[in-house]
Amino acid sequence: MSEIIIGIDLGTTNSEVAIVENGTVTVIADGEGRKMLPSFVGIGENGEILVGEPARNQYVLYPERTIKSIKRHMGEDSHVVMAGKHFSPQEISAVILKQLKAVAEGYANKPVHKAVITVPAYFSDAQRQATREAGEIAGLEVVRIINEPTAAALAYEARHEGRKRILVYDLGGGTFDVSVVSIEDGVVEVLSSHGNNKLGGDDFDAKIVQHIVSHIHEQHGIDIGESRQVMARVNRAAESAKRTLSDQPFARIDEEYLIEKEGTPVHLSMELSRYEYEAMIAEYVDETLEAVHIALSGANLTASDIDEILLVGGSTRTPVVGERLFEKFGIEPLRNIDPDLCVAMGAGIQAGMIAGESVSAVLVDVTPYTYGTNAIGDIGDGDFYPFKYVPIIRKNSPLPVSKTEAFYTAVDGQEAVEVKVFQGEDEDALNNIEIGEFLVKGLRNVPAGNVITIKLELDLNGILHVSAREKETGLEKSITINNAIGRFQDGKMDEAKARVSALFGQAAGHPMETQADSEADGHHAQVKARALIEKAQTLLEKASDEDREDMIDFIEQIKDGLAGKDFDAVEAATNRLADILYYLDA
Ligand code: AMP
Repeated sequence: MSEIIIGIDLGTTNSEVAIVENGTVTVIADGEGRKMLPSFVGIGENGEILVGEPARNQYVLYPERTIKSIKRHMGEDSHVVMAGKHFSPQEISAVILKQLKAVAEGYANKPVHKAVITVPAYFSDAQRQATREAGEIAGLEVVRIINEPTAAALAYEARHEGRKRILVYDLGGGTFDVSVVSIEDGVVEVLSSHGNNKLGGDDFDAKIVQHIVSHIHEQHGIDIGESRQVMARVNRAAESAKRTLSDQPFARIDEEYLIEKEGTPVHLSMELSRYEYEAMIAEYVDETLEAVHIALSGANLTASDIDEILLVGGSTRTPVVGERLFEKFGIEPLRNIDPDLCVAMGAGIQAGMIAGESVSAVLVDVTPYTYGTNAIGDIGDGDFYPFKYVPIIRKNSPLPVSKTEAFYTAVDGQEAVEVKVFQGEDEDALNNIEIGEFLVKGLRNVPAGNVITIKLELDLNGILHVSAREKETGLEKSITINNAIGRFQDGKMDEAKARVSALFGQAAGHPMETQADSEADGHHAQVKARALIEKAQTLLEKASDEDREDMIDFIEQIKDGLAGKDFDAVEAATNRLADILYYLDA
C-alpha cells in the first residue's frame, strides 16, 4: 500500500482531516465521533494543553488562557499571549495540526508524516509559508498547499471531464470568500476571488443576541450585557435558534433562570420567526452578493457563464443564502456535500492523488427533484395567482432531509386548507407534477393569517412524509407518499403532465412540452380565471344590484371565452371582474 498522505482543512472556526482509502475519501472522526475540531487552543486549570472542544468551552470564562481564530494572524510577525506565555501563530496552528495528525494516526493505525493543507485563495506567500511552518512544527511534511475553493471543486468535480466554470460561495463562522474557478479534466484554476474576512455566521448570531438583549430589556428592564456568563448562555441559545431556523419557520428560545432581578429569577422565553431573522441578516447577505458580483467581474464573466454554484461553509445552510443565489444565477446551488466537510474532502482527494491512489467521486444520496406546495402569490405578472409554487425540499439536498415552512390562511374564518404536494421546479405549481393532496379540516374560526406549518420529510428510500399542522392548536394531518423519487422517472413525467393538464380542461394525452406558448399562456389564464370566478361567487351577495349584474356578465364572458379558447376575451373580462372584486373585497 502506498504511503498515507492526509488532507487537512485548517479553518478559522473549525478544522478537519480526511484520508483516501480504497479509492474513497473519508473525513475522520475523533474517538467521540466528532469530525469537526473547533480551532481553539488553550491552557487548562492545571497547565495542561487543551485543543478543540475543551478549549472552546473555557473561552468565555478564561479568554486569557485561550486562543481562537489564530488563522487570522498567520503570516504576521507577531505573537499571541496564552496563560502569560508568548506563542507565534505558527505554533498555535501546529497544536491544531498535531491533534488532527493524531486523529488520523489513531484511525489508520500507523504513523502519518505527510499532508496537504488548504488555505484561502487570497493568502499571500507569507501566509502560505507560515502554514507550511506550522505543519513542520507539528511533524508533518506539507507536500502541497492548495486553495480552499480548489479543494471544494475537487470534492464535487474530481472526475469531471471537459471544462466547467464554477462559483464557490464559502460562508463560514467568521469569514466569507467567493471564488470563480475553472476545472478542466481534473485540473482546477482559481480565476478570481473576493470576500470579507470579518463576515460570517458569528455576525448572524450577534444579530439574534442583540434582539434577545433588547427583548429582556423591554420586558424586565434589565441590561444583561454586563454579565459574561449570561451572555455566553444567550450566545449559545442564539446560535442554536439560528440552526433551527435553517429547517423550520419558527424557533423557540427558552433559557430558565437566566438572571435574577431583585431576588426573583428571570426566565427567557420567546419565539423568533425565520421571517424576522432573515430581515436581521439581509444586509450581510446583500454584502456577500456584492462580493459575488466583484468576483465575477474579476474573472471577466457574467452570471450566465457559470455552470455550477458550490455551497461551502456551515452558514450556507441558511436557506435565504441559496435562494438569493438561485435568484441571481437561475441555477440551483449544489449542496449535496456537507458544506462543513467539503474542503477537507477535497484536500483528502488531492492528497490521495499525490499518493498515487485512484480516487472516485464523492457519493452521496441526494434528491434529484424539488418538492413543495402551492400558495397564493405573484408569478411575475403582478396578479395574485393561487398556484404559485413554494419549494420546501430543494433539489440536490442530501437524504434524509426534513424541512418545514409556514403558510397563512387567506380568508377570515377559514376552517379548512387543501394541501397539494408537487414535484418539480416551475414557479407555476401546475406545471409541476402533483404527487399528493389532502385536506386539513376543523381549523379555528379566526381572521385570515392563521399559521399552518407544512413539513416535508424525505428518507433514503424515497418515502415522502407530508404533514400540515395548525401552529396554535397542534391540529395535524399527514400523508405518506411512497416512492416519491422513483415515481416519475423513465418518461412518465410527460404522461403525468398530460394528466394534470387534462384536469384543467386541456386535451388529454397532449403533453405540455409540445404546446405552443400561447396555449401555455391559455392554461395559466384558465387557472387564474377559475380562481377569480370562485372568489366572485362568494362575493355576489355582498355586491350592489348593479355590480352583481356586471359580475354575472363578466363571469359568463369568461366562461364563453374559455370554451371557445378566446384567451384575449378571457383576459379582458378577467381584468374587469378583478376590478370590481378589488373594491368589494376592500
Ligand atoms: P465553518 O466555519 O464553515 O465551520 O462554519 C461554521 C458556521 O456555520 C457557524 O457560524 C455555525 O453557526 C454555522 N452553522 C452551522 N450549522 C448551521 C445551520 N444548520 N444553519 C445555519 N448556520 C449554521
